[in-house]
Amino acid sequence: MTIDPTRIGELVTERTTGILGVHVYGMACDVDGIQKIAEEYGLRVLYDGAHSFGTEVDGRPVAQFGDATMFSFHATKLFHSAEGGALAVLDPLLKNRIDLLKNFGIKNENEVVMPGINGKMNEIQAALGLVVLRHVDAEREARGRLAKVYDERLGSLEGVSVFSLPGHVRSSMQYYVIRVDEKVAPVGRDRLYEKLREFNVFSRRYFHPLCSSLNCYRSHPSASPQNLPVANRIAGEVLALPFFGALGVEGANRVSDMIHHIFQNS
Ligand SMILES: *Cc1c(COP(=O)(O)O)cnc(C)c1O
Repeated sequence: MTIDPTRIGELVTERTTGILGVHVYGMACDVDGIQKIAEEYGLRVLYDGAHSFGTEVDGRPVAQFGDATMFSFHATKLFHSAEGGALAVLDPLLKNRIDLLKNFGIKNENEVVMPGINGKMNEIQAALGLVVLRHVDAEREARGRLAKVYDERLGSLEGVSVFSLPGHVRSSMQYYVIRVDEKVAPVGRDRLYEKLREFNVFSRRYFHPLCSSLNCYRSHPSASPQNLPVANRIAGEVLALPFFGALGVEGANRVSDMIHHIFQNS
């Protein structure tokens, strides 16, 4: 469900300067495949790493790939500081420039070397982040136990696919998503979502609607559904299930029971 490196080359024009990949749910993009294309065409590689705090590829942190990776520390993320984020860059010169840009271009007491913005993290949020950081590993492990329950309980349901990561990727455990193929399953994704709500279980159709279908983008030729067949199909299939440590194995089993119940009674 990440960008397909085999399809990037055909989209490159003389105006193309970079590739933007999004690491989704906890999975990483094909970082090696993307890097190869980037080198072939002389492009920069930027990653939206909002879901990938703790994702590893071949045992390496995901931020070690590409020119820059942007993490989100919004309250909905596994690691958070209520709002905020971090930009990881490999090139020290680029880091230096970004450090200036985020602090009004102030180099020292006497020198302001470029126009910048106030992009600093404030101390209160940083303090919250330090506290949350202590809980991240335990939370990720707890979510790993929930993922096992969901995998086992839902993986064999007709028309449901669970997300299996390749062995060389460690998930950040940001989200747990299933896909529901309404041609095979007794209920479609939207119906399952509605039915779960009746049980007071709030799943999310994440990402739905696709950003390419929003009014502000849909008129772009690149946003036409013919260009995005996979994304358009998946947007109608994905469902993010409750996924937080405090849910517990018992909670994940109850959610699974409900899904089985909904399937049997549809
Ligand atoms: C949360 C999220 C963002 C936005 O992060 P902010 O910190 O709110 O700017 C961007 N991309 C993805 C994939 C996200 O999940």
